[in-house]
Amino acid sequence: MKQIPRIRLAHLPTPIEPLPRLSAHLGGPRLWVKRDDQTGLAFGGNKTRKLEFVLAEAQANGAQTLITVGGVQSNHCRQTAALAARFNLDCILVLNGDPNQAPSGNLLLDQFFGADIVWTSREQREAALQTTFQHAWEEGKRPYLVPLGASTPLGALGYAAAFEECLQQDVVRPDWMVVASSSGGTQAGLVLGAKLANWGGKVLGISIDQPVGELQQTVANLASEASILLGEKQILRPADVLANADYLGGGYAVLGDAEVEAIRLFARYEGLLLDPVYTGRAAAGLIDLIRKGFFKPDESVLFWHTGGTPALFADGYRAQLTQS
Ligand SMILES: *Cc1c(COP(=O)(O)O)cnc(C)c1O
Repeated sequence: MKQIPRIRLAHLPTPIEPLPRLSAHLGGPRLWVKRDDQTGLAFGGNKTRKLEFVLAEAQANGAQTLITVGGVQSNHCRQTAALAARFNLDCILVLNGDPNQAPSGNLLLDQFFGADIVWTSREQREAALQTTFQHAWEEGKRPYLVPLGASTPLGALGYAAAFEECLQQDVVRPDWMVVASSSGGTQAGLVLGAKLANWGGKVLGISIDQPVGELQQTVANLASEASILLGEKQILRPADVLANADYLGGGYAVLGDAEVEAIRLFARYEGLLLDPVYTGRAAAGLIDLIRKGFFKPDESVLFWHTGGTPALFADGYRAQLTQS
């Protein structure tokens, strides 16, 4: 396998912990959690692993400014802004949301890191990103564009490496890995890692915002392209990707009863915090699948905690998260 340039900055390996009280409460399989909410960069999360590879490329290109994109509570944008601060780069975030809102959650943190923010709407987002990049280029800022969620083939390598790390820890031999899947890079890396290791278990992505077919296609493409970077040329097809899109609820970043219940259960039984957008939804899916008997009682299920907890403190979620 080819060695790919990588800036080491995450706290690795992240711990793997059992969830005995939650497992007993649900009467289901043995649950474990991989603590990628503890990757160490500004409250951690899955983007840190991807950014280790992306930053190496940005530096090799002589970049002076990182430009990326997301929703107002984007964890990816928060981690990118923190990374830029740490490596003496400028950062511009193209965010869709209300420019007049009081900063809270991730948006407050983006400001601490000194990121410049360009406001846009969800519909105009991609165009605004391209324009912002173009202007930065013309102004000589040496911009490097990090696509949504750092879900490029290069970024996905962070999770191929994470998969390897998880197997090497040898804490548990899971039958299943369950992960929140949105822009697809995280699941793509895990799927590729599983394929390269000839792993016997299954990686199940709980879709956060995409129909199942689209997500499978995205993940398969990213995994295949990432394998080429490694000089391995694996062809992954949509049918090779296990995904479930039954838990899209009211749409992206819309907090519903199922997410609130998942957040409360993890907190009360394990003292573990999930986030409202990604891990809350993925855990809600996991809990529902357990209740439906999807997993065998003697199986081990490893849940990837991909981070996102600063969004718990976003003003927009306060009403729903407050106990009535
Ligand atoms: C971005 C993100 C995800 C989804 O990862 P993708 O690689 O975009 O699929 C999951 N959880 C959290 C907390 C995230 O910030």
